[in-house]
Amino acid sequence: MSVSSRRALTGSFRARHIEASASMALDARAKELKAAGQPIISFGVGEPDFPTPEPVKQAANRALADDATHYTTVSGDPVLRRLVAERTAEVTGVPFTWQQVIATSGAKEALFIAMQLLCDPGDEVLLPAPYWVSYAEQAKMAAANVVAIDTPPSTWKLTPDALRSALTPRSRALVLCTPSNPTGAVYSDADLAALAEVLADHNVAVVVDEVYARISYVPVGRWLRAAPHMADRSFIVDGVSKAYAMTGWRLGWLVGPPELMQMASAVQSHLTSHPSSITQRAAIYALESQSSVETTVNEMVGVFRQRRDAIVAGLTAIDGVKCAPPEGAFYVFPDVRGLLGRPLGPKGRVLNSSNELAAYLLDDALVATVPGEAFGTPGFVRFSYALAMDQLHEGVERVQAALKPKPSGH
Ligand code: PMP
Repeated sequence: MSVSSRRALTGSFRARHIEASASMALDARAKELKAAGQPIISFGVGEPDFPTPEPVKQAANRALADDATHYTTVSGDPVLRRLVAERTAEVTGVPFTWQQVIATSGAKEALFIAMQLLCDPGDEVLLPAPYWVSYAEQAKMAAANVVAIDTPPSTWKLTPDALRSALTPRSRALVLCTPSNPTGAVYSDADLAALAEVLADHNVAVVVDEVYARISYVPVGRWLRAAPHMADRSFIVDGVSKAYAMTGWRLGWLVGPPELMQMASAVQSHLTSHPSSITQRAAIYALESQSSVETTVNEMVGVFRQRRDAIVAGLTAIDGVKCAPPEGAFYVFPDVRGLLGRPLGPKGRVLNSSNELAAYLLDDALVATVPGEAFGTPGFVRFSYALAMDQLHEGVERVQAALKPKPSGH
């Protein structure tokens, strides 16, 4: 018998070090339990529960009827790119040409491409924590090192001092997310201008993720409006997923300096070629700001606000939970440290981390959430309030029952 020299197949070093999206994994587990007939209430999802506005769906139907089913140009339909350039110029006051825009398969791909454009091995990507976990994994896929910078729970915003002390000669990019997933924090123009001042003498690129900009209860600061002189080293990421309830359609965009955007197009030409042709047509319709679409979006934001108030009230009522009302996105990120290490609920369960707490809520209360560990900030739990009000109320009641201090003396 010959001895084979073949070894078991293993993934590459890089692949072995990528962690799957924790929030998507939890969402998958909640869906599995639901499919098995369990009455799960999910605060785990990162998407609006509303349907895509009707006229947008009709635009996609028309695109199909018109046979818009072939490849488009790699960077996307110029009409779409022009709309994005105009809108970006409008909100920032900085002029943009349509060649500075590429349409991508979701904002996630835009962020991935940005990391590919910017990072060489060993470069440092600065992430204010808590951060959306894909930033870290995408930086690692670009062979960069992640530098997490803690932000204070009172604001969840990166401070100029914290940024200053995190900078090193290897700092290559700062990723800002405003409004933030998972905290809902919204940076003002003044906050952003103060951060730009710190970066004035550094060769650091800034990637600003604005996917939640349309879902805010306060005016949203804009990086390039606050720091227009940074336009030659800044990238803006946005898309239709959250604003227009179009997560499944997969359409985002990346806007940046002209030379780098040519490289972005080259990367995309070998990756996805371009986002779906039908989706691009639907997005063009949505962005043309047909008044009915904008009215629907405004209504969605109004409903999100009511739900935010309801969930903040419900969670704050739990002894040991602190939950300030966030200013944007559709997440709350309460502090649950006051619950750890003491007997909770009818069974008197003692939980030692937010990870354990989220697992307990799923198993015992059939409520899905995402623990702060998934965002680099243990001790907190993210609740998405993108679910109907009756579900929200029932979910909060279950959480309240599960997290009540165990009655003593029994
Ligand atoms: N950025 C953030 C902060 C997000 O929360 C998400 C979606 N969860 C994305 C980007 C990706 O959005 P898209 O669906 O457009 O890829």
